[in-house]
Amino acid sequence: MKFRTGILVMLLFISFCGSPDTEGDSRPYVVATTGMVRDAAEQIGGDLFRIDGIMGPGVDPHLYRATPADIRRMERADLLLYNGLLLEGRLAEILDRIGSRSFAVASAVPDSLLMAPYEYGGNYDPHIWFDVTLWKYAVNGIADQLSALAPEHEDAIRLRNEAYQKELDELHSYVVAQIASIPEERRVLITAHDAFGYFGRAYGMQVEGLQGISTTSEYGLQDVRMMRDLIIERKIPAIFVETSISSRSIESLITGTQESGFMVNIGGELYSDALGAYGTETGTYIGMFRHNADQITSALR
Ligand SMILES: [Zn+2]
Repeated sequence: MKFRTGILVMLLFISFCGSPDTEGDSRPYVVATTGMVRDAAEQIGGDLFRIDGIMGPGVDPHLYRATPADIRRMERADLLLYNGLLLEGRLAEILDRIGSRSFAVASAVPDSLLMAPYEYGGNYDPHIWFDVTLWKYAVNGIADQLSALAPEHEDAIRLRNEAYQKELDELHSYVVAQIASIPEERRVLITAHDAFGYFGRAYGMQVEGLQGISTTSEYGLQDVRMMRDLIIERKIPAIFVETSISSRSIESLITGTQESGFMVNIGGELYSDALGAYGTETGTYIGMFRHNADQITSALR
């Protein structure tokens, strides 16, 4: 009997502590969809806000559907931050419903800087975080939203944002230098889906994805053949898998290319649409970006 009571108390304790809606915290409640957006909110808002993220490591935002717990969080949020440009395609309904309390960080990026690739039906490419100069606009937009939510913290938010913008400038210079160290003819980035269009434009790489901009589309044999020919023609030593996408397509491309007598290898795992584990180096935007740049550089150089 005593044992059972112990378990019951423990369960109550766990459910109380595990609740995302912990009462008694008077700070404004901010919920972010992707890891990139959550990290930006944390860098700028620090512990002035209570910040929750919806999508963890390895989660594909193109396909993600909200759980009942996510919906509760989003409905309770004083501010819901999301990427926008249809990245979170399957959250459209709830984002619509929450409306006035939500902010698409991509809306802070000037339209003239966005890419609208033909293959994406004239829609804008949502992967804006892969050009640091574009992401800086998004971070500024988040800073404005946080200031509007808690005007008493405006000065602190401004200072934190200024410091973080400097770190982002340093990151941008680092990536420019890293990619420039790869011989020019090998600056080709082949991945499972087209997450790196902005990266290619900003840092001078040709970018090819097997699966298109959104993972909701399929790839065909024709795509695999074209990519194989490109790898052989340009003697590309490595292609990359992504943490948020099955590696099957990239593995079949490797097999196909090797059967044609050219050795291509997996150049490592890139973070495309999700960060690494929370609390680790790649669990931050800057750590994730540096990891990708280092991985690409060492595999292709
Ligand atoms: Zn994507």
